Amino acid sequence: MTETGTPVVRAVGVCKSYGRLDVLRGIDLEVASGEVMCLIGPSGSGKSTFLRCINHLEKVDAGELYVDGELVGYRKGGDKLYELKESEVAFKRRSIGMVFQRFNLFPHMTALGNVIEAPIGVLGKSKAQARARGVELLEQVGLGDKAAAYPNQLSGGQQQRVAIARALAMEPKLMLFDEPTSALDPELVGDVLAVMRDLAEQGMTMVVVTHEMGFAREVGDSLVFMDEGVVVEHGHPRDVLTSPQHERTKSFLSKVL
Ligand code: ADP
Ligand code: MG
Repeated sequence: MTETGTPVVRAVGVCKSYGRLDVLRGIDLEVASGEVMCLIGPSGSGKSTFLRCINHLEKVDAGELYVDGELVGYRKGGDKLYELKESEVAFKRRSIGMVFQRFNLFPHMTALGNVIEAPIGVLGKSKAQARARGVELLEQVGLGDKAAAYPNQLSGGQQQRVAIARALAMEPKLMLFDEPTSALDPELVGDVLAVMRDLAEQGMTMVVVTHEMGFAREVGDSLVFMDEGVVVEHGHPRDVLTSPQHERTKSFLSKVL
């Protein structure tokens, strides 16, 4: 984890509402390059919404959100700010990989087909180039022998690992994980977490919403406890998990640990 340089993510007083429901109520957070930040909190506390804002899937209502030093949703023109067009938003989103609870692979494509689709269609890579990199990525997630398998021939854990390879195929500078193991049978969780741990060790910057406290403790550089749209506690995972400072954190941890 580097302590210097531009943070990959910087949120300053980020607010987001749906109608009268205030979901994010002033989030201040920074994710450094190479940092693995784990995000925990009760259902409905705004964790997914925060990831969606980082990934340009939702617009921030107030505050500032920067990814790689650039204000999300805007671009500079001289000393003015212009709102991004949809095509520009799509372009920005390319550099962020996102992995969801449900893997949503294309069912009619093989594992390799799923991995190479966007590099060819979006990045304009040649088929040969994309395939070579795709095979490498499938090997990286432990599925070198499953390139020709269709999603329905793979376990949930294997499908999730294909989804991770698919996200990595876009060469992202940031990976967002939204409860990537929550939909998996317990015996399949370990393989997915192992892939994420490898990725962390290779220096990928990651924000991980998870209920896997072991992962948070062992792999996370920082742990954030969110509740009702605010950051209640933020620190080293060991500190937050073993000596939480706030009642709300204590109460939440007593239920999940
Ligand atoms: P978490 O991921 O922590 O469980 P979410 O960010 O998914 O929380 O949701 C926070 C709150 O925002 C919830 O009350 C949820 O119902 C609401 N919410 C999320 N997305 C929308 C939406 N698109 N429209 C309206 N309400 C939403
Ligand atoms: Mg969620």
